[in-house]
Amino acid sequence: MVVKHAAGRDYPRSYAELRAWFDEDWKCLDYLDWLRWPEGFVCPHCASVVGWRLADSRWKCGGCDRKVSATAGTIFDKTRTPLTVWFATAWRMVGDKVGVSATQTSHGLRCQAAACWVCWFQAVASPLGVSVLRQPCRM
Ligand SMILES: [Zn+2]
Repeated sequence: MVVKHAAGRDYPRSYAELRAWFDEDWKCLDYLDWLRWPEGFVCPHCASVVGWRLADSRWKCGGCDRKVSATAGTIFDKTRTPLTVWFATAWRMVGDKVGVSATQTSHGLRCQAAACWVCWFQAVASPLGVSVLRQPCRM
């Protein structure tokens, strides 16, 4: 099933909105959770869908008892840079004319440029890295 991303619901419409949405790290982690597990938590170790959120924003798997973070295996794993800074940087990279522009990204993904922040971010936030970009865009 193809899910259509909507501006203002699934991704910010502007840099100002990005700053308002992601002004604290836990909000960024919530978003990464959604990107990584849009249908709900799935343990990367045992594939259990039973898990619960811990106070430190990680998940505890009900199948194997391991603690899992949405950032595990991604470029955000064990970073000392606040996620709020990463998010702002990602926004500027995708939107910046000298960086990886949304238009350039959309050509590779065959989706609408306006939503490519979601696709690009999903790719960098995935433990699979850019290989996610080879999957059909959810636009
Ligand atoms: Zn598990």
